[in-house]
Amino acid sequence: MSRIGIVGGGAAGALVAAQILRQASDATQIVIFEPREQLAEGSAYSTTDELHLLNVRASGMSALPDQPDHFRAWARAEPTEFVPRVRYANYLRDLLSESAVDSDSVVHVRDLAVSVTPRPNGVRVKAADGSSWEFDRVVLATGHRPPAIPAGIRVNPKALPYVSVDPWAPATSLPAGGHLAILGSGLTAIDAAMSLLTRDEDASVVMVSRNGLLPARHVPPAAPIPALLTVDDVAEGLPLDRALQVVRAAGDDWRLAIDSLRATTPDLWQALGPWRREQFARHLRRLWDVHRHRMAPSIADAIDRWRSEGRLEVVAAPIDSIDVSEGRVALRSADDQLWIADRVVVATGPNDSVTTCPLLGPLVEEGTLASGPLGWGVDVEPATLRPRDHRGNPWPQLHVIGPPTRGTLFESTAMPEIRQQAALIGQLVRV
Ligand SMILES: Cc1cc2nc3c(=O)[nH]c(=O)nc-3n(C[C@H](O)[C@H](O)[C@H](O)COP(=O)(O)OP(=O)(O)OC[C@H]3O[C@@H](n4cnc5c(N)ncnc54)[C@H](O)[C@@H]3O)c2cc1C
Repeated sequence: MSRIGIVGGGAAGALVAAQILRQASDATQIVIFEPREQLAEGSAYSTTDELHLLNVRASGMSALPDQPDHFRAWARAEPTEFVPRVRYANYLRDLLSESAVDSDSVVHVRDLAVSVTPRPNGVRVKAADGSSWEFDRVVLATGHRPPAIPAGIRVNPKALPYVSVDPWAPATSLPAGGHLAILGSGLTAIDAAMSLLTRDEDASVVMVSRNGLLPARHVPPAAPIPALLTVDDVAEGLPLDRALQVVRAAGDDWRLAIDSLRATTPDLWQALGPWRREQFARHLRRLWDVHRHRMAPSIADAIDRWRSEGRLEVVAAPIDSIDVSEGRVALRSADDQLWIADRVVVATGPNDSVTTCPLLGPLVEEGTLASGPLGWGVDVEPATLRPRDHRGNPWPQLHVIGPPTRGTLFESTAMPEIRQQAALIGQLVRV
């Protein structure tokens, strides 16, 4: 019997487990290390708030690349519907249990993995309870680092009781009709604002981020267009401002232009090379993110309404310090603007580096793994998702899926990318 270990049981861990079982050619047991009570939730799908919608239409959320309608049919949704995220974890759990041959096929170890050691014929994983496990292969599916107050913001320790680093539970200690400051203005910040402003009509929110950009809204889908940029264009040295002109020339059809690049984004990213990748990260990444990861129309409508009513303010400012102020909390920007709020929630998005990850950080430090390009995630061989060591040699018995591959693949956090990765790993583990 093959034994496969999976470290991390969020959406990616659960899906890769299902794919390994679906494609297995012999008896296979999967052990998933995941401290959360339920598999398949992770950071994205653990919300219990029905107001938090998927930001991809039901027709785009199949977990199986060869069955594009699979999620829509499961959810009995309209293809263009934006389904509550809470249902997606149920969907993945159903898929996992359907893929299991019997009740022993998947073992959920409710603990953190604290070390992963590749050995000549397999991989050893140690759990926090001291237990040691031997596997033929291991998939690292450790996902996003939990949100934290960004380094560089000075925080008076007395202000900490007013600050939440859990964007999905910000309102619990907020007084009724209170004023919430949210650090960040991306989709996670939108989640926090939705929960509060829908349920407390006297509450108000200020979102503060470096650029003050909100995600763009989805519009009714139109027929796709051919890719506007080819990998050859980029490999031959197309400058980034020329690439931007090509996308801008699409005018009102910018969504089609962005979506046309989706299938080849990992190849385009690799073709950019180190210097242009760095330029992109510095000047264009946030612009790319707000156009690529969009809001469901009903959410965009609510955001527009609250802004016009003055209940939601979105400002661009680099926050410098968080302090207390007469039983409230004060945020000050580097250019000396001041916001006073009852509470602050940190929704600045995931940290790309794995150096603070208790499992992957030490592996990178000792050279067993290497950081990915730009220091994002870990370096992987794109065709096999095997992580490489500091000399560039891929580990044959290890694979990485999801957010930790974003340095190498760039777009690696949404389900349409993760489902491809899970199917690939399922296929590679079989042989
Ligand atoms: C708020 C939000 C909304 C999103 N909405 C959408 C959407 O609508 N559509 C879409 O396509 N994509 C969406 N995404 C993106 C995507 O689906 C997620 O990025 C996806 O959840 C990634 O799953 P993951 O399992 O890799 O990571 P995570 O969800 O971060 O899960 C990782 C898991 O690993 C566990 N773990 C970490 N370290 C260890 C360890 N050492 N030992 C054991 N366990 C460990 C953690 O406990 C966690 O449960 C969203 C993402 C977020 C954050």
